[in-house]
Amino acid sequence: MEYPSTQAQRWEPERRPWRLADGLRIVRRRQSYLNMLYLLMAFPLGLLYFVLFIIGFSVGTSLAFIGVGLFILLAMLGGAWWLGGFERELTMWWLGITIAPMRREQAEERSRTLWQRTTALLRNRITWTSLLYLLVKFLFGTLAFSIVFTLIALTAALLCAPLAAVLQVAANGRLDGSQTISLLASPLYFLVGLIVGVLTLYACDGLTWVWVQFARVTLGMSEAELQLTQARETATRAQVRAARAEQSRRELIVNVSHELRTPIASIRGHVESLQMAAEETPEAGTTTAGSVASPAELRDYLAIISRESERLSALVDDLLSLARADAGELKLDLRPTMAGEVVEEVYESLAPLARRERQVTLVRQVAPDLPPAIADRQRLAQVLLNLVRNAITYTPTGGLVSLVAERGDAGHIMITVADTGMGIPLEDQDRIFERFYRTDASRARASGGFGLGLAIVRDLVQAMGGTVTVQSVEGEGSRFEVRLLVASGA
Ligand code: ADP
Repeated sequence: MEYPSTQAQRWEPERRPWRLADGLRIVRRRQSYLNMLYLLMAFPLGLLYFVLFIIGFSVGTSLAFIGVGLFILLAMLGGAWWLGGFERELTMWWLGITIAPMRREQAEERSRTLWQRTTALLRNRITWTSLLYLLVKFLFGTLAFSIVFTLIALTAALLCAPLAAVLQVAANGRLDGSQTISLLASPLYFLVGLIVGVLTLYACDGLTWVWVQFARVTLGMSEAELQLTQARETATRAQVRAARAEQSRRELIVNVSHELRTPIASIRGHVESLQMAAEETPEAGTTTAGSVASPAELRDYLAIISRESERLSALVDDLLSLARADAGELKLDLRPTMAGEVVEEVYESLAPLARRERQVTLVRQVAPDLPPAIADRQRLAQVLLNLVRNAITYTPTGGLVSLVAERGDAGHIMITVADTGMGIPLEDQDRIFERFYRTDASRARASGGFGLGLAIVRDLVQAMGGTVTVQSVEGEGSRFEVRLLVASGA
């Protein structure tokens, strides 16, 4: 089967000779009668607006000298704006057309003062063109009403001509010359009546079209105005974003300096102690009674220095990760990934450590036939390492940490890291994904991190198109759920 090309259809529209049936289609068009009603209603509405304007204007100007009048004039302009809005809605609803909005409300407008709102009202072109619309509506309504009413009356009179002629003959009881002529001419009148009726509908459509164009110009923003406001909104949004970025940059500097202070002070303190010990101990490796540092103490000091340096280096790594995410340089290699394999890797690298250092048991479970998820394998491992490390850190000796990968709700796979640890207070649960946020309990622990781990987890999971949530009961444990999209076709 051959289809005509759309190109040909677009450039060579079908040309049909004009037929009477096409011209008469207007008679069955519901909208033409609605247009007629709209035009008839324009008169009483226009009259109402005119009367309100005259009252407002005369009272306002006559009282202007005592100041109250100015308020009345301003209220009148506000009223013109409001009535303009009403007319816009009414016209769109009645005539089934669209008119551009009168303005675009911007977020900051809600916090404007009365004075700012008033000046904005006065500066807005639509306030004045609405007023013009309402005044012209009176003139247009009068004109439209006269034309439409006359045409309807003429049509009705012509259509009734045969009936009138018959009634006249019936009333007289006989047929004289003039009655014969009017009886014979009446079908012609009827025909003319039909033509005038159809022309009335065309006139209504034409008048409505003219009025709609006027309403569009006076009650709606022009294309250029719309574009200008959109450009302004974009600029305002960019400004707000820039201010927020500046604010978070400042906060970051304060937080980082604060976090660096403790480990650096600890390293410095212990290095100084070691220096003092070296000065007091004449020969390296020998201890004298009363010496500051025994070999055991030296080992402890060095262990502390080493641990604090590791923390510093972890902080720098975390900061780099966040900085990359902020700069949009987080390059992810998103591809179908078997989450079960990543779970296995994380389990193998952390289970011995958990048992050895904290006597915490780590268990894992991967659902059979788990479909691949959309993820960056390395980043997913980083996410799970962070969550499991936290779970181990915040779970007391003898506790249990589980790592489970299974099918989630439609189109997702879910990886859960649950523990039987200290839990997270309800009021902190919303905030633990923020940068540098730590709960009081973890702040009190010397070995706690810097509060960046979960912020990185959230950034990474979101960059993979997933979500991460937490549920926790204080004293019972926590449960972090990572949802990732199932790779399509899986
Ligand atoms: P940190 O490096 O301090 O662990 P995170 O961003 O990883 O930073 O975590 C933020 C805070 O959330 C932690 O300081 C801790 O208070 C809390 N938290 C995270 N995971 C757990 C958990 N499994 N159990 C209890 N508290 C947790």
